[in-house]
Amino acid sequence: MQNNTAISQLIEAGKWVSQKGWVPATGGNFSSRTASGFVVTASGFDKGQLGTHTFIELDHEGNRIKGAGNPSAETQLHLGMYKLIPHANVVLHTHSVAATVLSRVIKSHTLNLSGYEMQKSLSGVTSHLDTLSIPIFENDQDIERLGLLLSDHHLHTPIEHAVLIRGHGVYVVGRNYKEALRHLEGLEFLFSCELERIKIEGIEANL
Ligand SMILES: [Zn+2]
Repeated sequence: MQNNTAISQLIEAGKWVSQKGWVPATGGNFSSRTASGFVVTASGFDKGQLGTHTFIELDHEGNRIKGAGNPSAETQLHLGMYKLIPHANVVLHTHSVAATVLSRVIKSHTLNLSGYEMQKSLSGVTSHLDTLSIPIFENDQDIERLGLLLSDHHLHTPIEHAVLIRGHGVYVVGRNYKEALRHLEGLEFLFSCELERIKIEGIEANL
């Protein structure tokens, strides 16, 4: 992937995700793997108004190649996901209400979803009867420690589509830009459905 193409796609993603209300108050960050490493949004910019000056280009080890802004601490998690997950070529991290609240309501370390047709919006899921499992990690301001937890988890349960950070948001991966957007939209729909279901049926049905 050319850096310019990757940045253009992420600028478009920012407009769309911002309109959805999933990245309030400059929250979240987006990245894309490139031939030389990856490009990532710099910290502190409204994701609905990204431009070429709001991106940093990093090499495969996370060293800055180009770009003047500050990388957010969470850039280390993007780097970690590119190292861990070969099929992750785009990573979108958002702070939606549904992801934030659902990851607090579910007390266990995994969100299990089943019975939803929209599970099929995630690559490899072919039936509503499948159980879609999304790991939930405790939020931590120490991103290196969080990254190690993610890495340990991936060794025994490979991360396929996404991870939730409790009370914080979701990291979604995709093989390409379109898949990452579809995974994000599909998961946000499912998170909202699950929250509504819990309000009506109670939490017990999920545990
Ligand atoms: Zn975040």
